[in-house]
Amino acid sequence: MTITFDSLLSEITDPNGREILDPATGEVVGKARFEGVEVLDAAIARAKAAQPAWAACSDEDRAGLLLQAADAIDAATEPLAELLSREQGKPLNGPNARFEVGACATWLRATATTELPVQVLLDGDEGSAEMYYRPLGVVGAIGPWNWPMMITVWQIAPALRMGNTTVVKPSEYTPLSVLALVAVINSVLPENVLTVVAGEGDLGARLSSHPDIDKLMFTGSTRTGQSIIKSSADTIKRLTLELGGNDAGIVLPDVDPKAIAEELFWGAFINTGQTCAALKRLYVHTDVYDEVCTELAAVARSMPMGRGLDENNVLGPLQNKAQYDIVANLVERARESGATILVGGTPDADAPGHFYPTTLVSNIAPDNALVTEEQFGPALPIIRYETVDEAIELANGLDVGLGASVWSSDRDAARKIAARIQAGTVWINKHGGIHPMVPFGGVKMSGYGLEFGVEGLKSVSAPQVISG
Ligand code: NDP
Repeated sequence: MTITFDSLLSEITDPNGREILDPATGEVVGKARFEGVEVLDAAIARAKAAQPAWAACSDEDRAGLLLQAADAIDAATEPLAELLSREQGKPLNGPNARFEVGACATWLRATATTELPVQVLLDGDEGSAEMYYRPLGVVGAIGPWNWPMMITVWQIAPALRMGNTTVVKPSEYTPLSVLALVAVINSVLPENVLTVVAGEGDLGARLSSHPDIDKLMFTGSTRTGQSIIKSSADTIKRLTLELGGNDAGIVLPDVDPKAIAEELFWGAFINTGQTCAALKRLYVHTDVYDEVCTELAAVARSMPMGRGLDENNVLGPLQNKAQYDIVANLVERARESGATILVGGTPDADAPGHFYPTTLVSNIAPDNALVTEEQFGPALPIIRYETVDEAIELANGLDVGLGASVWSSDRDAARKIAARIQAGTVWINKHGGIHPMVPFGGVKMSGYGLEFGVEGLKSVSAPQVISG
């Protein structure tokens, strides 16, 4: 049966549920049923009961079902993308809603076809030892509102492949996207292997302390990550924490500013800046500073922002008012400090929606709050530096380290600088490119645990050695 936007919405919406508003217009997108802790507990119990049979399926069968789930997502791309666009705000085009839905299918396929074979550790006179990776049991997932579908797939796909069942708690800002995605995936999975429970207030804390959740995947703020570590202590839960960051980019004096301007722009403004591993502070050598500012400003001015359903737009609103206020406040503080607002910085107070204009701030001090605090929105500070050592010290000066980038026409020089940067990934001449086979995770207060590829499969498994 063909899935349409209306059929998808009617499957997940509840007339008595919480109204979910379009951040571009304030209109009601749909109503999501917000459940309490009892419903979550019951879902966990069902997931626990379903897990042995799921683990007993052959690996080929589980992989085959994940491939079928990817096909089901492909078949529902347009309705899923429209719902995502209306609920999250991101445009259909550009690296946005259609791109995100496509990435869900890509990640499912990559996870289904990645192999994690038995490792032979010893096999000789000293005896034999092999390492196996067993399912953990029930894996919980708490996802964010910026890439709600894609990050849900990142969290659940490896867990399912390895024989775990999963319980997902979406962000209260974007429950419909996740309810719809799970409905599509569940059209091929056995019952209770993948469950979603939407709600707010105490579900997250319950999931992170529940004795029958064996592992928790969390993507969100460092502060909530810290709460999760505390509330998971009694059950010694395994955790993967992807806690965002404040990614630095260092531009060396040998770049061609015009050639790198568009990559720089998307490194910072993908998903209108609401991305964990987006470029959030740009350090530019004084020799090319003015030219980089000029070229980046030209690209920024050319990128249309507006309602996501308008096919022309590539930038959208902030997903929620709280995030809008954070961005607006940081830009105001930068302006008051005497920094130059090169582009943007003046939102239209009368316009509907949480639109904050694409904003570039130059001549800003390295210790300004717009530089040192995560803005998570469309406002990029551009900081001038004189020496590479100074730039590296500034990049490493914060307590977070998810991603970073170095921009240079000399790749070897860039790689040497990359090795000195404290971040889980350092990109050269790009920022934020991820791949389902390349592990991704942070250092310092950006969290711990790796996602994607073989490392991602290991992270949702219990290693077991058989020695004899
Ligand atoms: P949070 O990071 O605070 O996460 C909210 C989610 O965590 C909700 O689902 C909530 O569920 C759950 N939660 C809250 N407390 C606990 C707890 N003690 N144990 C387990 N789960 C808990 O998201 P916000 O939306 O408030 O965003 C805050 C900031 O995080 C943003 O301003 C942005 O800077 C950053 N962010 C980073 C993202 C990233 O990709 N790394 C993505 C989104 C935001 P419940 O309501 O049931 O408690």
